[in-house]
Amino acid sequence: MSAIAAEHPDTVVNTPLGGPGLPQERRLVTSIPGPRSQELIDRKAQAVAAGVGHTAAVHAVAAGGGVIVDADGNSLIDLGSGIAVTTIGNAHPKVVAAVQEQVAQFTHTCFMIAPYESYVSVAEALNRITPGEHAKKSALFNSGAEAVENAVKIARKFTGKQAVVAFDHGYHGRTNLTMALTAKSMPYKSGFGPFASEIYRAPLSYPFRDRLDGVVAAKKAISVIEKQVGADNLAAVIIEPIQGEGGFIVPADGFLPTIVDWCRANDVVFIADEIQTGFARTGEMFASDLFGIVPDLITTAKGIAGGLPLAAVTGRAEIMDAAHTGGLGGTYGGNPIACAAALAAIDVFENDGMIERAREIGAILTDRLGALQAADPRIGDVRGHGAMMAAEFVDPATGEPDAALTAAVAKTCIAQGVIVLTCGTYGNVIRFLPPLSIPDDLLHEGLGVVAAALASA
Ligand SMILES: *Cc1c(COP(=O)(O)O)cnc(C)c1O
Repeated sequence: MSAIAAEHPDTVVNTPLGGPGLPQERRLVTSIPGPRSQELIDRKAQAVAAGVGHTAAVHAVAAGGGVIVDADGNSLIDLGSGIAVTTIGNAHPKVVAAVQEQVAQFTHTCFMIAPYESYVSVAEALNRITPGEHAKKSALFNSGAEAVENAVKIARKFTGKQAVVAFDHGYHGRTNLTMALTAKSMPYKSGFGPFASEIYRAPLSYPFRDRLDGVVAAKKAISVIEKQVGADNLAAVIIEPIQGEGGFIVPADGFLPTIVDWCRANDVVFIADEIQTGFARTGEMFASDLFGIVPDLITTAKGIAGGLPLAAVTGRAEIMDAAHTGGLGGTYGGNPIACAAALAAIDVFENDGMIERAREIGAILTDRLGALQAADPRIGDVRGHGAMMAAEFVDPATGEPDAALTAAVAKTCIAQGVIVLTCGTYGNVIRFLPPLSIPDDLLHEGLGVVAAALASA
């Protein structure tokens, strides 16, 4: 039991999905930030580069189930999972045990120097659980952006072509190539150019705003691609099956399959960036499964290893093998501790009912957010799948995005002990990414705080 759990023995519950036995409650004993958190925020301002921001001014000391506990003893409801990372819950016991065992064995040999089994086992697991029955291979990296960079390298080598198409509202990371792929200038790109060349942008299906049928929207995108890039020059199309940072935009039915079919017919590698949508989050193991598509390559990270840094590219064996030996890798890629954590996490995803749990959470979110929307015209759209849902806030008179309202609601929620994240090209979306280990009553309480924050805004 953690020190904090020990201080509150009456309220300790064993959440069915693990966590360090923290009391599963919203508990505010100071205002947010409390004095100890404020001290850390002040030190951060002195020591950490200003470009690294923070959403909640708290000094986290423990987390598990559905809460994050701060240094002042406040217990906040976590509706963000550290951006869709702690999907199975923070400090999941199986991950903790696997990490502790591995860290005592060896911490690093470099897989490119002296390989080890856990990396190979993670690759085998990814090859097995990603969409499609074809022969697959994987390569492991440290971060989502690094996986995206490598997917593009592999697609270029395989096709002998250079251009890459990304979509409006897309987010693929913060490195130079992935900044170029990312759509939104502020805060991700502004002032950080010049960007990598041979990147082009196509229009996305955004049903709430374009009102287009999915096939029609896909044909529009394909026309832009054919006219402005040309299939002969195009190595890859990269897309998030459900847009993450861009606003949890779910494309209309038919959009993704039409794009995939066009790629197949034109020798273009179709890359699904499932870094945010992957691993049971949407109520399927991968969001591609929601749309019945089979990507050529798929990038994963975030939820993959229960909080440890790991990322992967998985895909058709003949594409993955196009890069020459020594062409892929990195000092830390597929670190043994991260691999041990991933094997434990994938075991939980597959065998501990995570897909069903994501669907249950999706039903609760759909109900509660739907009721809010019915009663409040400032919620223009509620969308998403499973434990990846969002509400888009608008001016009811004009339908224009209302970023100020969104920011105000999020700020009130955090002050009231509920961590919510915003997103969207127009900054007018609140996204809900609770850990699947959150108890139902805590999720309901968190959503009640959101409703009250909206009512008072
Ligand atoms: C977070 C994210 C990335 C970047 O991952 P990092 O680990 O932050 O580099 C790329 N693509 C998508 C869809 C993401 O959500």
